[in-house]
Amino acid sequence: MGRPVVAIVGRPNVGKSTLFNRIAGKRIAIVEDKPGVTRDRIYAEGEWLNKYFTLIDTGGIEPESKDIILSQMRRQAEIAIETADVILFLVDGIQGLTPTDREVAEMLRKSKNEVVLVCNKIDYNALNESIYEFYELGLGEPIPISASQGLGIGDLLDVVVEKFPSEKDTEYDDDVIKVAVIGKPNAGKSSLVNRILGEDRVIVSDIPGTTRDAIDTRFEVNGDKFVFIDTAGLRKKKKIYENVERYSAIRTLTAIERADVCLIMIDATEGVTEQDKKIAGFAHNNGKASIIIINKWDLIDKDDRTYLKFKNEVKTKLAFMDYAPILYISALTGQRVNRALDLIKQASMNHSMRIRTGTLNDIIGEAVLMNQPPSDKGRRLKIYYATQVGVKPPKFVIFVNDEELMHFSYARYLENQIRNTFEFKGTPIQFEFRQKG
Ligand code: GDP
Ligand code: GDP
Repeated sequence: MGRPVVAIVGRPNVGKSTLFNRIAGKRIAIVEDKPGVTRDRIYAEGEWLNKYFTLIDTGGIEPESKDIILSQMRRQAEIAIETADVILFLVDGIQGLTPTDREVAEMLRKSKNEVVLVCNKIDYNALNESIYEFYELGLGEPIPISASQGLGIGDLLDVVVEKFPSEKDTEYDDDVIKVAVIGKPNAGKSSLVNRILGEDRVIVSDIPGTTRDAIDTRFEVNGDKFVFIDTAGLRKKKKIYENVERYSAIRTLTAIERADVCLIMIDATEGVTEQDKKIAGFAHNNGKASIIIINKWDLIDKDDRTYLKFKNEVKTKLAFMDYAPILYISALTGQRVNRALDLIKQASMNHSMRIRTGTLNDIIGEAVLMNQPPSDKGRRLKIYYATQVGVKPPKFVIFVNDEELMHFSYARYLENQIRNTFEFKGTPIQFEFRQKG
């Protein structure tokens, strides 16, 4: 289930990053290598009254010159309109209304998004009257805050969470497999999606997102239901924002969050890059199932060791996802593309697989017999009992005498023993060790 996305837009110096830092909880690293981008401001997790959301900062692209502020603002607003459920339009209560504010307000008024007008810099000693002129923007009542002094933030967030779309708007039935196709620009994502959808698939419908313009594409193959998440840029080839790295990064991150299975597209002619690692890491850390796709296989000079070479590179550079199957394809010629759907199905089944408590404890019991748990200063780890507490991804709780005695390598060993019986191919599995008694 995708979290609502909240974007902050506004002129330079109105206090966007100050507000961002006030609201932001956990920071999430960004998947881009471009210089000139303030990375830590792009994307964070927010929470208010137990409602979680994704906070994005659409600004922060260094303007190439001072007089392009307006076009910069427009682009920011466009990105927010396409990506966000709720847009916080920030204006400056000290400086007052400017022509740029009017321009942006007009764009936002025409959009279908929920917009909250926020008047910043209404500090302890400021006059509240200064907010009245902003009514003129036609975006409703301005909410007065002071981002730097932390005033009015709670009231603002009350208004924001009220505007979140109801959950059913973005959810699919349980039998629909949600797939995100991710990877660097030019890895071949569009080509793959178009090829899979092009081959006599029954396309159920293109589903416009509720407020954001994300388009998902649903299709069925032999009774199996799939949805490609956020195919807006992929199917139609209208890559308006191709060169806006920040935009594609935000899109990637929100698509991953909404998906069950990620297809990580890697360009064979470039090998596994840093950016690929970051994208894969994000899928892994979010507990998503993954399939690694080495694309453009037709462009590679091959001999009998080529597969192995690629496989080793992936195993080394993406060691944290050794559960992910690797598929070598050419989206251009169609070579092996038909294998993708089977792997997606398999990964998705494993992602939501439950194993019986009895069977799980048999495996763990046998593992303990074969390989004694570690000890420290005369105390030995005892494992009492294990149970699966969740799916997507499978999560296990293991009750022990002292969780401090659990060593990383032993946890790894237990994971391998479980995987020897239930392969869980394509999905990460998670463990939690709990002290008992
Ligand atoms: P951005 O360019 O929109 O991200 O703006 P910043 O967050 O970098 O803030 C620009 C300037 O405004 C900084 O000097 C901040 O300290 C100041 N500022 C931000 N919030 C407030 C506020 O609530 N009151 C006052 N007086 N200054 C603020
Ligand atoms: P995206 O940016 O990840 O969506 O990548 P595209 O699907 O737009 O592909 C980028 C470029 O790579 C286009 O020129 C494609 O025709 C080309 N391309 C994609 N897949 C393959 C492939 O398997 N082999 C070859 N030779 N070219 C490919």
